[in-house]
Amino acid sequence: MNARFGANPCACGGLRGPLLGRRGLMVGAALLACGPARAQTAGPANPALVADLVVASHILFNQGVVDAFGHISARHDRAPDRFLMSRSMAPGLVTAADIMEFDLDGAAIDPRGRAIFLERFIHAEIYRARPDVTSVVHSHSPSVIPFGITGVELRPVYHMSGFLGGGVPVFEIRDAGGPATNMLVSNAALGHALAATLGPHRVALMRGHGSVAVGANIRQATFRAVYTELNARMQAEALRLGPPTYLNDAEAAAANDTDDVLMGRAWELWVRQAAG
Ligand SMILES: [Zn+2]
Repeated sequence: MNARFGANPCACGGLRGPLLGRRGLMVGAALLACGPARAQTAGPANPALVADLVVASHILFNQGVVDAFGHISARHDRAPDRFLMSRSMAPGLVTAADIMEFDLDGAAIDPRGRAIFLERFIHAEIYRARPDVTSVVHSHSPSVIPFGITGVELRPVYHMSGFLGGGVPVFEIRDAGGPATNMLVSNAALGHALAATLGPHRVALMRGHGSVAVGANIRQATFRAVYTELNARMQAEALRLGPPTYLNDAEAAAANDTDDVLMGRAWELWVRQAAG
């Protein structure tokens, strides 16, 4: 077992997750009080990064990707071993004052008694595994769920979702957590297993739970989360009509390159909508 999985970091200002036993498996539902924060802050993040994280939270709510649940994070611009995400709250209500700093063990650096997301380990372990990723969205967006539970592969049906090319793996939590988890990625071992399932891909589904979308920046991760939901909706509709013709790998790669250039147009619109 990797030693860090047994550390069960507790600088979280609230409750810490289930204890881990041999091979990183959860052995109980114990929730223990936490000790003081153990690390120094990396210093204030770029205010523009924090502002983007706040508006992205509102965009994801406005676009129907998150509701009262789900979250987006960003890697700290001054410390690659830290990331930023809000305290535990509905994404549509997040303000800059709610953004907190975490290390890659999922420990809050300056918790000040604030409640934190149980599933922060999704973000921590993806940042640990993927140096190219600087933003992660986790959601339960509804149209995506059927593809995680049926064996029907989520594939790109149109040019706005070329990032789905190359495959969308499905995370089976039973493989890492056994047959009786609460389905949440609430410790480092489960986060590590999810990051391994994601591998080099841009999106991974989580069976019976939701999905993760990653990007090289907040805008790209947000764009991918929004269009993962839309692609799932259209693919399900197409499957009712007949066998779809999907983008092939070359088309998906070319479309993805184009979308990376054009996504600023969507971001501009979504920011305006979020401002009311
Ligand atoms: Zn979740």
